[in-house]
Amino acid sequence: MNKKTVRDIDVSGKRVLVRVDFNVPLDDQQHITDDTRIVAALPTIRYLLDHGAAVILMSHLGRPKGQPVAAMRLAPIAIRLSELLKLPVETTADCIGPEAEQKAKALQAGQVLLLENLRFHKEEEKNDPEFARQLAALGDLYVNDAFGTAHRAHASTEGVTHTLPGVSGFLVEKEINFLGSALEHPQRPFVAIVGGAKVSDKIAVLERLISLADSILIGGGMANTFLKAQGYEIGDSLLEESKVDVARELITKAKEQGKQFVLPTDVVIADRFAADANHKVVAATEVPQGWRILDIGPATIQDFYAVLAKAQTIVWNGTLGVAEMPAFAKGTEATIQHLVERTQAGATTIIGGGDSAAAVEQAGAASKMSHVSTGGGASLEFLEGRILPGVAALQDK
Ligand code: AMP
Repeated sequence: MNKKTVRDIDVSGKRVLVRVDFNVPLDDQQHITDDTRIVAALPTIRYLLDHGAAVILMSHLGRPKGQPVAAMRLAPIAIRLSELLKLPVETTADCIGPEAEQKAKALQAGQVLLLENLRFHKEEEKNDPEFARQLAALGDLYVNDAFGTAHRAHASTEGVTHTLPGVSGFLVEKEINFLGSALEHPQRPFVAIVGGAKVSDKIAVLERLISLADSILIGGGMANTFLKAQGYEIGDSLLEESKVDVARELITKAKEQGKQFVLPTDVVIADRFAADANHKVVAATEVPQGWRILDIGPATIQDFYAVLAKAQTIVWNGTLGVAEMPAFAKGTEATIQHLVERTQAGATTIIGGGDSAAAVEQAGAASKMSHVSTGGGASLEFLEGRILPGVAALQDK
């Protein structure tokens, strides 16, 4: 990565304002159900503390839409963070204003302050310059370690860098290094697996992966539109009628570039969109009226495996079926196991954030992959080749 990181600057005796992504899931009782994102920020926080900085953390949580919402306060996160760091974590009632200023000023080296939810102010997402200036005034230096929001130019990800010098934390560095090197210098064969609900969300990433990868495996709801483009009937399956032509063009493009483009040959169909629906396996050419495709079938799992077995680099975005329902999670689960196997055999396996990352976490396989991205939208935009404003705003090496 060509951006400076915390290693490149002297943080000793400085108040360091750090944007983290603590947007963790909470249950009705305000208990954190998955603290992955908090744990992911620990290396940067610990490094700063060990090197004599006072650490001021800021994050958003949920969608409070520009006003304070009691259920979206960061207090439960401060408690969990304090347990993980084995240090007290001070909080504020608002992320800007006199109390935050006073607490930031009083903060000593080795101490941690967590500002209240940034999105209690609508100015955060609007990248309001005055709001950004007030945040920036709390620190001497800025660190961005929130990969999950790096694709958005918000006050805390971009605006603050107008008045504070900014560098990246270890998480952002790791994400960019993994995703970047996989795309720029992949060990070949390079195989991309693309699934998820809609083709429309994935057109840009498919275009890029067709030109970069050697083989592209297609699953999930979006495979239906490709099957339709091949002239197959797909019953009541999720279909984007307006994208059938785009799907056909993508297939042609892959062919013209000599790339292997693999569609499902068999599918799991159900008579309803429900976890307990009647279901069976049929050939992709034989989907009856009244039924819908909810997963790839066993022959397709094997077809995918035959390609994956030779791969040295694998990038995956989007589940291969409705993985939230056990009956339609088999394609996703089998592919996770195949990726674990490939990782153990020395291949580089990269899971884009969002639903595919959640499925990998749920299978307990996250630590068995080379890299599981913490950013859904951010990793997708990076794979598309777009500039992430939160990274672009940091100082060059
Ligand atoms: P995405 O966020 O684009 O990665 O899409 C993930 C979503 O796609 C998950 O919620 C899946 O349930 C959904 N999905 C995957 N396969 C299908 C399918 N065959 N039909 C409908 N939805 C699907």
